[in-house]
Amino acid sequence: MSEITELDPETVDRIAAGEVVERPASAVKELVENAIDADASRVEVAVESGGAERIAVSDDGVGMSESEVRAAVRAHTTSKIRDVEDLEAGVRTLGFRGEALHAIGSVSRTTVRTKPRGGDRGTELVLAHGDVTDVGPAGCPEGTTVEVTELFERLPARRKYLKSEATEFDHVQRVVAGYALAYPEVAVSLSHDGRERFATPGRGDRREAVMAVYGREVASAMVPVDGTELPEGPLTGVRGLVSHPETNRAGREYLSAFVNGRYVTAGAVREAVVDAYGSQLAPDRYPFAVVLLELDPAAVDANVHPRKLEVRFADEAGAREQVRAAVENALLREGLLRSGAPRGASAPEQATIEPEPTEPSEGDGPTEPSEGDGPSGEESETAARTPAWGGSVDGEDGEPATVEPEEDDGTSAAGETTDRAESDPHDRRERVQATEQRRLTDEVPEPAFERLPSLRLLGQLKETYLLAESPDGLVVVDQHAADERVNYERLRDRLEGDTTAQTLARPVRVELTDREAALFEPHREALADLGFRAELDGRVAELRAVPAVLADAAGPELLRDVLGSFVSGDAERTVADARDALLADLACYPSVTANVSLREGSVRALLEALDGCENPWACPHGRPTVVRIDETELEERFERDYPGHGGRRE
Ligand code: ADP
Ligand code: MG
Repeated sequence: MSEITELDPETVDRIAAGEVVERPASAVKELVENAIDADASRVEVAVESGGAERIAVSDDGVGMSESEVRAAVRAHTTSKIRDVEDLEAGVRTLGFRGEALHAIGSVSRTTVRTKPRGGDRGTELVLAHGDVTDVGPAGCPEGTTVEVTELFERLPARRKYLKSEATEFDHVQRVVAGYALAYPEVAVSLSHDGRERFATPGRGDRREAVMAVYGREVASAMVPVDGTELPEGPLTGVRGLVSHPETNRAGREYLSAFVNGRYVTAGAVREAVVDAYGSQLAPDRYPFAVVLLELDPAAVDANVHPRKLEVRFADEAGAREQVRAAVENALLREGLLRSGAPRGASAPEQATIEPEPTEPSEGDGPTEPSEGDGPSGEESETAARTPAWGGSVDGEDGEPATVEPEEDDGTSAAGETTDRAESDPHDRRERVQATEQRRLTDEVPEPAFERLPSLRLLGQLKETYLLAESPDGLVVVDQHAADERVNYERLRDRLEGDTTAQTLARPVRVELTDREAALFEPHREALADLGFRAELDGRVAELRAVPAVLADAAGPELLRDVLGSFVSGDAERTVADARDALLADLACYPSVTANVSLREGSVRALLEALDGCENPWACPHGRPTVVRIDETELEERFERDYPGHGGRRE
């Protein structure tokens, strides 16, 4: 490693200024990056109370001599770049700002114990709220340990800004997990309040690291991305692991992106990964992914964010396309992508059962599941009674999806389901759809809507959007978003006031990621409030009961999404928030959407149900359900108001 020197003012000026230490996780990130830059093969992170009470990061890296550590804690001192030229040529190390130790030391009591590799003397230096108070010899192993206590103690406003221990730890967990996955050759461990959360073996096998952090189930569902056959673009490599489409979660937290080894938020990269799954991934579901991008450091600016969380690509579109292609190739190679494959059809539990379009019963809201399914011996009649367009909502995926008979007494109707599944569903579906397609052009009696304008259906676009004429112009409805809204309100109404738990016949074991497991204990009570009764056995949750009203809508695996929903981004969620988030996520569960898409079976029914919603205009995640293009806009776009129009033509 080169000498630690102070950067000149010109270079300092060029370095993105701002808060380096925002919360415990930002200090952890800097310290872990320092350890990796110091050639460590082992990095141990231990935090207490989410990191607010104590952070300790130990490594077996190159260490520092007394004079080096004295220099290291001063402002703008670094061994990683010398000047602006180095900065411009591109940075290959994780650090380059020379600010972290100094910044951490000015908002905490920071103790550095370090001994150079092969050196004979260790040093301890104490930096208390900005002042070096103590430097002296210390007996310590080769490498460096940085301990941070009293974080923000002299800055009550910042201390107050910290969230709950569970949330702060969640941020720490994600950073450490990220580096553990990016550097499988480094043994990375994390402990919280004296308990080890995970430890990677450091043997260079990324799948082993995934197993340590996300568990066996996820690890076995990961496929390698090797980045061969990349299209033209700025990236020289795209490597890592991505999950099978059915191994997914409701949040983006498990999409980790690294640019030249640095953990970054990189929204564009994450989007590119999700794009690669195409329709294999249900909307609002996200895969597990560890994606490492390599490129000429000069082609990416790491100096745009004080915490180095963002990067700017000279050619972002190019990088994005390369990532998408690399991930797509990986999935194709494993046979996990089929072009035009139906959404979620790869989920093993989704037996294909033909749509059972039934007309909504009189007086019953169209989204209310019918009690007990009609006998299956009258397909043709059912089809004939199906309102025009009946088969089209299921055209969301062009194929039948699961239709689970839903019965309020909770008795299983599995036998019936199986029977129907076995009666050549394909053949029957074709007949059903043929009938409906013929009727597409028929006049559809216009339903009188209360909230939505009256609509005359025109057709369907890309099996995704409904096009309709309203008195004002053109209306485009996103079928899936509409479905979600309808399901959300239906589930919400059912859940209202009823959080009774339904005991499972047999306890179900659900493997959790370390992150989910860490969120379990602090939210035990909230889980119980929602109706989940579970015990944690290491990383495995043993579920004994689930919320009764949701029992038939989704499996016990839902627990994972619920745990994830307690912390989302920076938002801390109350039980009520978590319940909302849970409902929003549930509303797009394939088994739930199938209820509206297929069982109710018609576009009319969907629109009527949407009209019956308290808020028909947005899906529960906040995306619009309906886009209106009024006549004026159409006129403007076609330049019908162009003064010369008439004259020129006539
Ligand atoms: P930067 O990482 O941007 O250079 P830091 O303030 O994080 O700035 O660290 C300053 C310097 O201290 C580093 O350049 C490095 O030389 C030294 N240093 C910091 N942490 C370690 C460590 N864990 N092991 C060895 N050297 C370290
Ligand atoms: Mg650093």
